[in-house]
Amino acid sequence: MRPDARSDPRVAAFLARHGSGDPVATIARLCADLIEDAEATVPVNLEMLASFRNATVTVLDQEQAETIMWDGRHFVIRVRWADTEGRQRFSCAHAILHTYFMQAGDGGTAGTPRHSWSRGEEDLCDHGAAELILPRAAFIAVCPSHPDMGDVLTLAGAFQASAEATALRVVTLSAVPAAMIVLEPSLKPADLSRSARRRSQPALPGFQPEGPAPRLRVQKSFSYQLPFLPRHKSIGDSTPLASVLTDGAADYTGETGIVPGRFRVSARLLPVSRDGALVDRVVALLFGPDADDWAMRQSG
Ligand SMILES: [Zn+2]
Repeated sequence: MRPDARSDPRVAAFLARHGSGDPVATIARLCADLIEDAEATVPVNLEMLASFRNATVTVLDQEQAETIMWDGRHFVIRVRWADTEGRQRFSCAHAILHTYFMQAGDGGTAGTPRHSWSRGEEDLCDHGAAELILPRAAFIAVCPSHPDMGDVLTLAGAFQASAEATALRVVTLSAVPAAMIVLEPSLKPADLSRSARRRSQPALPGFQPEGPAPRLRVQKSFSYQLPFLPRHKSIGDSTPLASVLTDGAADYTGETGIVPGRFRVSARLLPVSRDGALVDRVVALLFGPDADDWAMRQSG
């Protein structure tokens, strides 16, 4: 959440209608209230939550991941047919959160079209989507005290969420220093442009210019009380983490080569289809090497 979120007019209107001074706390409260009103259980039935917000949900072939409009009587949510189920659920939950902002836009009697896009609103809808799909209380109740990526996949199945969203939830609710990373094999940004130049030049017959080999690099990361894990940083080739590409899994305590220090590492190879090609995506959890019980913060 950006510090200037309250100066965003969409967020200001949302806060004026729905509550307190803290937008993240307000979103969390609205989500908890909605889940309670709908008596939702896990996996959360998002169509039912939507109906409590006077919204219908349709899955169809469209360009955007999700759209939402007010048809004069109801909110109409549409999610993209081509996406995975986990992605569709996230889009649907994100759109359900937009209803609170649209309702606030005209004094609250009806929704307003979203012609004005707001970064603050989008961030809060993403935040709320995790609250709806992976509800805090239900998640804390079933997440083990020392979760690894095997547990993340089990929880992702139970909550019908993506592995990435579930790993992120483990970190955002963690009582102990933790981080999640998404890694993919790629070249350094500088090498990418160099190899594109090389490809555009004619090669001698039988001569293949040797280029740098792709390495597992950080694509996304989120840290809680652990060092920031910079994008494009590669893992150390000699660390056990590198073996995840051949073994499919890596669970160990030691170095990652991304930032200095020892961590308890749990990684899984979870390939994703992108533009028709399968990409070797790795999702990993990092904890301090002697990390205490994951849920201590919640019980305090
Ligand atoms: Zn949105």
